[in-house]
Amino acid sequence: ATVLGIETSCDETAAAVVRRRADGGAEILSNVVLSQIEEHAAFGGVVPEIAARAHVEALDGIVRAALGDAGITLGAVDAVAATVGPGLVGGLLVGAMTGKAIAAARGLPFVAVNHLEGHALSPRLSDNIAYPYLLLLVSGGHSQILLVRGLGDYERWGTTIDDALGEAFDKTAKLLSLPHPGGPNVEIMAAKGDPTRFALPRPMKGEARLDFSFSGLKTALRLAAEAKAPLSDEDVADLCASFQAACAETLADRTRRALARFRERFPDIAGPVLGIAGGVGANKAIRAALAKECETAGFRLVAPPLKLCSDNGAMIAYAGLERLEAGLTDSLDAPVRSRWPLDEKSAPLVGHGR
Ligand code: ATP
Ligand code: MG
Ligand code: FE
Repeated sequence: ATVLGIETSCDETAAAVVRRRADGGAEILSNVVLSQIEEHAAFGGVVPEIAARAHVEALDGIVRAALGDAGITLGAVDAVAATVGPGLVGGLLVGAMTGKAIAAARGLPFVAVNHLEGHALSPRLSDNIAYPYLLLLVSGGHSQILLVRGLGDYERWGTTIDDALGEAFDKTAKLLSLPHPGGPNVEIMAAKGDPTRFALPRPMKGEARLDFSFSGLKTALRLAAEAKAPLSDEDVADLCASFQAACAETLADRTRRALARFRERFPDIAGPVLGIAGGVGANKAIRAALAKECETAGFRLVAPPLKLCSDNGAMIAYAGLERLEAGLTDSLDAPVRSRWPLDEKSAPLVGHGR
């Protein structure tokens, strides 16, 4: 089957076409992402009203571009999938209404996708791995360790008790006067810095439960920056490097425990997998730290290409494809939801209107 996917939950207007291949894998026929970074740059964060309006203006053209890049018309599409949550309601409405309108006009099934399910399944899209696997989701709004048991079947093993990791990167960048979005800019500065210069905390390190906490780290960084002000370029680079090292070490510690727990739970799985998803998964120092943990524990690390880690339409089209294949389509009155935990078992996650 071939699925058109639409993603508008935050500040990316995205559409993509994904098709099931004969060998069981999936093929991305197109993946068009328009970032609204410039629209929000002056505000140092995403402004919901501006985001919703930008989605309205861009989405038709992005859908057309996705079909054009794929070299197909709507006649070759078998279902339309759109993110209906979690996220900013204005943007979700734009994407969901557009997806439903296309589905209604063409008489196609509509699939209401949880954005987090899109992230969670992206290692299957990129590498066709089998269930179950572990997933580390580190994005602008989420930091979670998930057991992905099957489609629509997730166990959240750990989550952040305060800031998401991407958010901590973004706030660190803002504090150090680096441009928005913070993550990539902190990484660029960190490459020039000394990660041992500032002794920052490793929150939750050694704790048995698998949760994260990043607000103490953020505060420690702010205090270190204030103590050194005015900051030279070298100070900023060293602060970024020290912050990034603290994040990588914390993630490695949490992940090590999760891998051990997975082993206990599934002793018979020969090639266990840890997948990474979310924009922070683009960070090379973090990838390296996770790769090391996986190597030690005998896990395969599946880190999808950067374009599939941050928000995109292909992961939504792919989640839609798996749901379509499982008969889990949704009715055209499927609601949008600003909050929608992935491990919640209520509708529409279980596919009402099937
Ligand atoms: P969510 O999926 O939770 O709703 P989101 O959609 O904003 O959040 P993504 O698009 O997956 O999240 O990722 C964006 C986040 O990733 C931002 O916080 C950004 O700063 C961070 N990020 C991107 N690249 C890097 C990098 N190289 N290093 C660290 N963080 C990064
Ligand atoms: Mg984003
Ligand atoms: Fe996301």
